Amino acid sequence: MKNIKKTMKIALLVIVILLICLFVNILINKKEITLTQLSPQTGTQMMGYVIKTKNNKLIVIDGGLIDDAENLMKYIEKNNNKVDYWFLTHNHNDHTGAFTEIVNNKNVDVENVYVSLNNKEWYEENEIGRAEFSHYLIETLNNEKIAGKVKSPNVNEKFQIDEIQVEILGIRNPEIVENPGNEQSMVIKFDTGKTTILILGDTGEKSSEKLLESQKEKLKSDIVQMAHHGQAGATKQLYEKVNPTTCLWPTPEWLWNNDAGNGTNTGPWKTMETRKWMNEIGVKKNYIAKDGDCTIKIK
Ligand SMILES: [Zn+2]
Repeated sequence: MKNIKKTMKIALLVIVILLICLFVNILINKKEITLTQLSPQTGTQMMGYVIKTKNNKLIVIDGGLIDDAENLMKYIEKNNNKVDYWFLTHNHNDHTGAFTEIVNNKNVDVENVYVSLNNKEWYEENEIGRAEFSHYLIETLNNEKIAGKVKSPNVNEKFQIDEIQVEILGIRNPEIVENPGNEQSMVIKFDTGKTTILILGDTGEKSSEKLLESQKEKLKSDIVQMAHHGQAGATKQLYEKVNPTTCLWPTPEWLWNNDAGNGTNTGPWKTMETRKWMNEIGVKKNYIAKDGDCTIKIK
């Protein structure tokens, strides 16, 4: 009798330990990486992404226009007003407006900023129409709140953010002066070990060719951000090499439909052509910014 009682006690203890292990395991597995595509708040084209690591590091890529800052702030506030890494693909205000607004006017801690810019004179010489905003961005990067935290990465530079490996596949291309601002886009690859995500910014034709020449072995990715809002950006050859299963389109409704006001496919934009390419490549899933903020779990 005494032995039976002892055996039952041990069995009960084993069951309790197993249940505790199971519970802890569920908790650990609940931690996940998420990627949010931000939606345009004004109807104007913009681009912004938020990645959260399993250990709650917050990574922001671009962020949109000044008027998109409030929407982005919702995600930053949830992270105790802290951005661990902020990547700015290029100087244009549909990418960096929210960054300037938040750094200059909000109480947010930004720990690291990665950006690849030419000097002031380059923008004055090559993109005079946008020079004023470029100056404002450069001024913001010199704001004492973040001045020591701004890094200008090299091509092929790799670093780790928690479980995510980051590799810089492309930086500014000062020799390309056609479509100048877009062609300076920083190209970033995120690798979780199970999933790869390629961020192209507003990469254009010439920088696509450069990437195909210099990075062709590294381009293959599961998820790709469609360059230049999904039209007149990267080439079909580049997307073929990336060969993604999922596309992220930082694209408002009018641009997705190529609609300048007179109905679908009546506008001057090349979105329909890009959509056709991605169908031909066999993409399975499209997330489009016109449909609202969208958070996906990343393996
Ligand atoms: Zn853009």
